[in-house]
Amino acid sequence: MRAGRLALGDLDALVVTNLVNVRYLTGYTGSNGVAVVSRDRRLFFTDFRYMTQAGEQVAGFEVAKGERDLLGDVAEAISGRVGFEDASLSVRRLERLRSLAGSSAELVPAGDLVEALRAVKEPGEIEAVRAAAAVADQALSAVLERGLAGRTEHDVAVDLEHQTRLLGAEAVSFDPIVASGAHGALPHAAPRPQAIPGDVFVTIDWGAKLDGYCSDCTRTFATGDGVAEEALEGYELVRGVQQASVEEVRADRGGRELDAVGRATIDDAGHGEHYGHGLGHGVGLEVHEGPTLSPRSKDTLAAGNVVTVEPGIYVPGRFGVRIEDLVVVTDDGCDVLSSLPKQLTVVS
Ligand code: ZN
Ligand code: ZN
Repeated sequence: MRAGRLALGDLDALVVTNLVNVRYLTGYTGSNGVAVVSRDRRLFFTDFRYMTQAGEQVAGFEVAKGERDLLGDVAEAISGRVGFEDASLSVRRLERLRSLAGSSAELVPAGDLVEALRAVKEPGEIEAVRAAAAVADQALSAVLERGLAGRTEHDVAVDLEHQTRLLGAEAVSFDPIVASGAHGALPHAAPRPQAIPGDVFVTIDWGAKLDGYCSDCTRTFATGDGVAEEALEGYELVRGVQQASVEEVRADRGGRELDAVGRATIDDAGHGEHYGHGLGHGVGLEVHEGPTLSPRSKDTLAAGNVVTVEPGIYVPGRFGVRIEDLVVVTDDGCDVLSSLPKQLTVVS
């Protein structure tokens, strides 16, 4: 029972308002619900629209029907020192909850208690991410059979979304990035209604969502054999750093330490200023969650974390390269969930 593992510390109760966290703890997937976890009671509130759904989905919590904004019902159920999720509860809703609870509850920011549990996946969650990654890889493979050069970035992105859903995913886990040529130098480029030229790189960053769990992967393809030499060198630099970083992943490594492995190599190659993001991030019910692998990370990896390893270089006006794998951290290494090859592939 996940709620039983919550580290309440000096709190008498925790009010869980982030719907992803509510889903993780209770199983409920609707759009209005609040969970209250105290030492001796687990309550789940929703409104009349979702009572049937909650009856079917919620496990380990008493289900109670509340008014639409649920806060009056939550206020009646809490007392003592009560944590709230300060990363997601709006100031307006916090003030309303405070005034409804009055002097019976002292509301204090509780940080990321549920997120900390979510970072370490159970076997069933790992299988869900693995299945999402497999669907995503199949979808991109089908899209690549129709070629890249001459199609617009937008067309490729729409095709990829369509294939992902045809193959059984409930959705894409984020809007796919399809960025060719100099546009690839924008790490989060939006696909354009512009034809992809020959002899350039195309960076594709995509993922599928299956049973609520996300995948995330990036590959960079060439659209011909005539790609500029500096770009080809950049590709081999990123590929080497990505592979070396994957080989260093295992439980007990620091997120900052892992990030540093390849950053030094990229710096030495003169591309330090072209690598402006961290090495990776956790993936699960959300496509970006803990732990973080970056120069600022304070996280330490644990077996059961699912993280990306995604170095890249972005040379403005010229080209971009990113290669991203999704991996499961184990005690002595990692299990790579992304299956598409990483040697440079020409798709014209
Ligand atoms: Zn990605
Ligand atoms: Zn990513």
